[in-house]
Amino acid sequence: MSAEIIDGKAFAATVREKVATHVARLKEEAGIVPGLAVVLVGEDPASQVYVRSKGKQTVEVGMNSYEHKLAADTSEADLLALITQLNNDPAVHGILVQLPLPGHLNEDLVINSIDPAKDVDGFHISNVGLLGTGQKSMVPCTPLGCLMMLRDHLGSLSGLNAVVIGRSNIVGKPMANLLLGDSCTVTIAHSRTRDLADVVRRADIVVAAVGRAEMVPGDWIGPGATVIDVGINRIDKPGGGTRLVGDVDFASASAVAGAITPVPGGVGPMTIACLLANTLTACCRANGLEEPEGLTA
Ligand code: NAD
Repeated sequence: MSAEIIDGKAFAATVREKVATHVARLKEEAGIVPGLAVVLVGEDPASQVYVRSKGKQTVEVGMNSYEHKLAADTSEADLLALITQLNNDPAVHGILVQLPLPGHLNEDLVINSIDPAKDVDGFHISNVGLLGTGQKSMVPCTPLGCLMMLRDHLGSLSGLNAVVIGRSNIVGKPMANLLLGDSCTVTIAHSRTRDLADVVRRADIVVAAVGRAEMVPGDWIGPGATVIDVGINRIDKPGGGTRLVGDVDFASASAVAGAITPVPGGVGPMTIACLLANTLTACCRANGLEEPEGLTA
């Protein structure tokens, strides 16, 4: 069997288009422009690339982008003061603090100081609790993107066996909660899981979010399973240079799976698209307007 490729790049483009259409309507009918504030502390090169990309895509869908670049030695008090200012700014509907923060800053404290209604990353403890209890929340972008692709590909997920490999707060745990919300039977596997191969083999849906290059081989995948590969790992190429691979061994897994996301071009592009979707959702909620369909969990 040769798996269908789930094209995250193309899907992300349709999500951005949907967001842009809704943003244009908001502007025309209500005179409202959604705004996303991104806060970057320090000069981590990867974070700088992400922040630039987020800002560019925000503007491309017609929203306002506010970038706040702070020095690496910014004090916690100054960062918290900026967040308070953004919390109180009616033009800002979404606030994202780019992680990781420099070591002297308490990430939990900083994230939990964001107004939960503007927490477009979905990391605030209130949003984690709301998601965990099946209530309306802001949903973390990467798992939201995975859920959208799964629904698009499979339709109803009800009753399916889903295995999430990885239990991080950013991907694994919210992913498991979202799958549970769609009535999957969910197993969360992690570094201490016994007989991981057997656990994965029983899954109709496999979401790999580990951060280990190609650790899931094709013979762990049940025939016809849907595989969502969240991992982004840079490895050396035999002739020199590097390339990106996922947590799943694409060559062997795509021979067995029913469908699979590639790396790059799968989950990655969906993450920023979902950030834009979350900003739009936050703006609609803030203004008591109807939320766009198909852009939230
Ligand atoms: P993390 O390091 O916080 O968590 C990794 C998880 O994997 C842990 O819960 C750990 O228990 C589990 N794990 C480690 N070794 C294992 C093993 N041998 N067997 C089973 N489980 C094991 O990582 P994260 O932040 O959840 O990210 C995971 C991967 O997803 C990384 O490659 C990261 O770059 C990628 N990622 C991609 C996006 C995207 O937009 N595509 C977003 C976030 C993360």
